Parts: sequence; structure tokens; C-alpha cells
Amino acid sequence: MKSTGSFDVALHRNLIGGSWVGSTFLPNINPSDLSQVVGEFATATADDAQAAIAAARAAFPGWSRSGILERSRILRDTAQEILRRKDEIGALLSREEGKTLSEGIAETIRAAQIFEFFSGEALRLAGEVLASVRPGVEVQVTREPLGVIGIITPWNFPIAIPAWKIAPALCYGNTVVVKPAEVAPGCTWTIVDILHRNGLPPGVLNLVMGKGSMVGQALLDSPDVDGVTFTGSVGTGRRVAEAGARHMRRSQIEMGGKNPLVVLDDADLGVAVEVALNGSFYSTGQRCTASSRLIVTDGIHDRFVAALADRMATLRVGHALEPETQIGPVVDAGQLEQDLDYIAIGKAEGARLVGGGDLIERPTRGHFLAPALFADCAPRMRIMREEIFGPVAGVIRVRDYDEALAVANGTEFGLSAGICTTSLKHAAHFRRNTEAGMVMVNLPTAGVDFHVPFGGRKASSFGPREQGRYAAEFFTTVKTSYQAAG
Ligand code: ADP
Repeated sequence: MKSTGSFDVALHRNLIGGSWVGSTFLPNINPSDLSQVVGEFATATADDAQAAIAAARAAFPGWSRSGILERSRILRDTAQEILRRKDEIGALLSREEGKTLSEGIAETIRAAQIFEFFSGEALRLAGEVLASVRPGVEVQVTREPLGVIGIITPWNFPIAIPAWKIAPALCYGNTVVVKPAEVAPGCTWTIVDILHRNGLPPGVLNLVMGKGSMVGQALLDSPDVDGVTFTGSVGTGRRVAEAGARHMRRSQIEMGGKNPLVVLDDADLGVAVEVALNGSFYSTGQRCTASSRLIVTDGIHDRFVAALADRMATLRVGHALEPETQIGPVVDAGQLEQDLDYIAIGKAEGARLVGGGDLIERPTRGHFLAPALFADCAPRMRIMREEIFGPVAGVIRVRDYDEALAVANGTEFGLSAGICTTSLKHAAHFRRNTEAGMVMVNLPTAGVDFHVPFGGRKASSFGPREQGRYAAEFFTTVKTSYQAAG
């Protein structure tokens, strides 16, 4: 423990080859209270990243042939410990990222469910046996682990995203080097600590915290990494893809979104307002699946905007750990500046700020921003084309369903899309014709199950889907073997 002012904060080291190492640390600051240090986290060097990759490589032969009962047991024990400690870990998540405590605990439970799911999947590793076109020959199709996996994660789901990458990687017999976002490394550190104590052999899972440009880049530059799974910005995603092509290795890349929520005249107004409120502003709008474009037909437009603005005015923005808080702070000063810049850009582009968008004072100094709603937006505006990643949404008025669908698809992104309607015909047409990886009817664009595929199209995603049984597409490689029956 190290003393900083009035309270003690723990030192959290990197895990390389089964040993906790590191001597330089960075403070993890609570965005609800900038005077509070959540913990001190080691910053790795490029050499540390190389050592971690070497440790993962050395551990691969053993782990890739380990028994499925051992893998399943470690993943299950990890799920159970996360669940047992959900209040403590959920509070850590809220302190380092700024989600409300209920959001933090819910995400922690989800991480436990993901480990539990892959604990079961470890026992269900299967292949196929087929007859050959050549009589007397047997064909087997099996899945083998890919090798050393580099995992690079963002801050906005600081426990769920590391969980949904680490759990399948280990389940299928890969070894791992994980690099969490520098803003919120605490939850990843906690998962790694739990897995380590639950008996993972040294080197199977390595943790290197620190700067993306140094530690993350070292993973991308290494010829000894067999696959990189990344979630983050479009710019970094592009680097991951380019490095993957250079090394001829597999990449799984999840990036941004500019997700549309269509509201038709025949929608249930109450449902549409709650769906928009949740999708646009919960988790402080910091979800890649957030609804940032609300595309609303003429007949319901004015009633929808008025009702949503009224509902937004009741939202309580504040300290993430206060029970009455519904919207926590923005994660850090850089993201807050980006949000405020886009609000200014929206006004300058001629959009009408219906409500919110101002900084809020609370008893503690934090990054508190009132969720902002723009009306009179045009599809060409920057606030309707570029991902803001904050509690900012805009309404585009359209004539009818056909125009709504065209506007919804008129984006470079394609992660999630939603529609609020009571028309079976329009719901079915939208599900069929929306250019997105995930589609929601009368549900928020954000908020997905953990056991089914997650991912998008166009500039939102690259490579195989994440989560559920589809995760095997990235984390395993297929072998076709032929044997003469003799
Ligand atoms: P965000 O805007 O969500 O922070 P980033 O793409 O910057 O998105 O960050 C996502 C993750 O990618 C973080 O863990 C970050 O440290 C890492 N990262 C940033 N730059 C690089 C890079 N050049 N190479 C590898 N990883 C990087």
C-alpha cells in the first residue's frame, strides 16, 4: 500500500510469466471525484510486452493440451468468485469508469455469466467425422487453439469486454497477453488476479497495463502473436487491421457506431421515449451501441421530442456511487472535452439544442454533463455522422418509413439499429433491410445478451463475431484430417 493524502491506495502490478512485476505506476482517478485515487497501476514497457508474449508462447504447448476439466473448473471458479464479489467489483467499476453502481454491478454479473458460459463450452469442444469421397478413407474436422492471443480493450465496459475476450481465449486452449485501457485497468487486473489464484499455470494469462501507443503497439508489432482481438476507436482499429495484414494473422476488431433508432407514427409513444432514453443516455451514452441518431416520422415527431425532453429533465446526473444517480460522470477530461466540442459543433451546424448539454456542479468535483438532445438535425451534420461517445443524441425528422430506413442506413457504420413501431410489416422489413450487425424492435439499441453473437458491419467491425458459440470462429483454427481406414 502507498499513501496518497488522506487514504491508502493499493499498488497493482503487471502479471508476466506468473510473477507480479512493475515499478512505475500511474494513478487511476475517479471521474465522480477527481480528488480520489482508485488505485495505482503499473505501466509496462515495450520490453515487458515482449516478455509477456514470450511467456505466453512458452506456456502454449502445455495449455493447448490441458484437460478440458481443468479449463472448465478454472473458468467456473472464476465465475463464482466474480459473482460472490459482485458488490465490491461493481463498486470498483463505478469508481474507475463512472457508471452508476447498479450498472457497475450488472456488468460484473454479466462478466461472471460469460465465464460460466465458457466453462460449459470447454466441455463441449467438438468436431465432425465425415465419410470421404474416397472409399476406405475417414475425414475428421477438428478445432485447435489459434495460439498466442493479444487482447486490447477499451474503458467503457471495463469488465464485460475483457471477460468476453479472455474467457473464450482460455476456454479453447489459447494463451493470452491482455492490455486494458489506461483509464480503467482495475477490473481487468481483478479478473487476472482471480484467474491466477484459481490455478492458471504461469504464462497462460499475462497482463501488461500502460499506454496504447507503447504497450498495445508492441503487441501489434510482434510477429509472435497469432491473433489480436481489439475493441476501441476506428483509428486504432485500422492500425490493428493493418498490422494483422502485415503479419498475416487473424484480427477481430470492434469499433464505433452511429446507431439509428427509428420511431414511426404508429409507435407506442411511452415505449419509444423509454427506449430512446435508455439507448441514448444510460451508461452516460458511452456505449458503442448507443442510439445517437433518433429518426422520427412527421406524425409523432413533436410529441416524441417534447416527451423525451420532459423525461430527460427528470434524470439525476451525479456521483456514480450515490443511490439516486441515474447518469454517472463522463469518464475523463479528454472525453468531456470531446462531448462539449461536439455540442458546440451541433449548435454551429444549425441543430436546435432542446435540452441539456451543460456542465453540472455536484458536491464532489467530477465530469458531470447533462445529457443533451438536439432537434432539427440533418443527416449531413457532423453530429449525425461522427461518433461522439457521450450523452448526446440528435433527432432527424423524416416523412415516412422509406425515408427513415434510407437515413438509418446512410452511415459508414453498421453496429446496431432499432425501430419503435406497432406495425408487423415495418418491423419485419426493418429487420430484413437494416445494414447493421444487430437489430432491435421496440428495444434499446444498446443492451445485448452474452450468449449470442455480437458485432457489426461496414466500418463498425472487422473479422469474426464475438461472444456465444460464434467466438470459436476467432479463437480456434480448423484442421481437416484424412486417414486411410487400413
Ligand atoms: P478509445 O477512444 O475508446 O480510448 P482507443 O482505440 O484509443 O479508443 O483505445 C482502445 C484500446 O486501444 C486501449 O487499450 C488503448 O490503450 C489501445 N491503443 C491505443 N493506441 C494503440 C496503438 N497504437 N496500438 C495498440 N493499441 C492501442
